[in-house]
Amino acid sequence: MVVALALVSACASAPRKAVDPEASLALPGGEFRFAHDAREAQAADMVRRAVEHAGPRLSLWGTFHDPVTLVIHPNHAALERAANRPGHDFLRAWARFEQVEVQSPRTWTRAGASQKQVDELLLHELTHSLMYQVSATRLTWTKKGIPLWFSEGMASYTAGQGYRVPSLEDLSRFLHDHPQADPLARAESLYESENATVYGAAHHAFDFLVSRYGEERIRGTLQAMGRGQDFPQAFQDAVGIPADTFLRDFRRYVYLRGFKGGRINPPEPGMGGLRGENRGLPWIPLFSKPLPPTSGPPDTTLGDTSPKR
Ligand SMILES: [Zn+2]
Repeated sequence: MVVALALVSACASAPRKAVDPEASLALPGGEFRFAHDAREAQAADMVRRAVEHAGPRLSLWGTFHDPVTLVIHPNHAALERAANRPGHDFLRAWARFEQVEVQSPRTWTRAGASQKQVDELLLHELTHSLMYQVSATRLTWTKKGIPLWFSEGMASYTAGQGYRVPSLEDLSRFLHDHPQADPLARAESLYESENATVYGAAHHAFDFLVSRYGEERIRGTLQAMGRGQDFPQAFQDAVGIPADTFLRDFRRYVYLRGFKGGRINPPEPGMGGLRGENRGLPWIPLFSKPLPPTSGPPDTTLGDTSPKR
């Protein structure tokens, strides 16, 4: 059974359509090939332009070392088959290490997709392929233990998709309403039922990671994986704290609405009586005092971390 499934997915990942040699793109960041039927020529042009447009933003994380083939499928059913993801109505593309399956933009809506929509989706998908290539090899890219929040957050951040996902305030309400749920560390278990929350949490967590620790440490995480480490070790070495600790900090920031601005200070000793009066408004800095300067990796204080988007 396992062998049969493995064969099915191996077949699904092999391009069945002819690669159009004329359309190949050699960009500073990598080499791209395009496979499609003759009637998808116009759609392929849009995808090709989107790959060109994605180049500068992708260079944030590194360059491709293997060529990437973009396979354009004539309809949604063909995409689901190729991606081996039945029942994923919302899917428009699916990325792997060396190949991106794309549902023909001609079929995304009745009127077809705009170039801007294709640009956004391709930037998201190519970020996934690039992350795999920078952090792994053809043989190891599925075995690094990269969590969903990191890969989806990175793709959403890179493609500027914050406007699409639920806001930090929505996420805060979700955490208050579902104190046992963990859309970050246990994203896989909520992926079907709380898809928007999972993507939103991933986006905001990654955005928080960038604003607090910087893009350089994220590149460091990818490069450490590229040298052989798995994700947990690479993250800890490059960022300076375990990923679990980072997620706890982020959860606290969202739960206490640190994004509203102001500082959240620990309660003063003997302020027990007053604390009750502030309940529900933890972001109002009533007992504000300057925080000590930090050294080394940033700590878990909640000031000055308002998201960029
Ligand atoms: Zn994605």
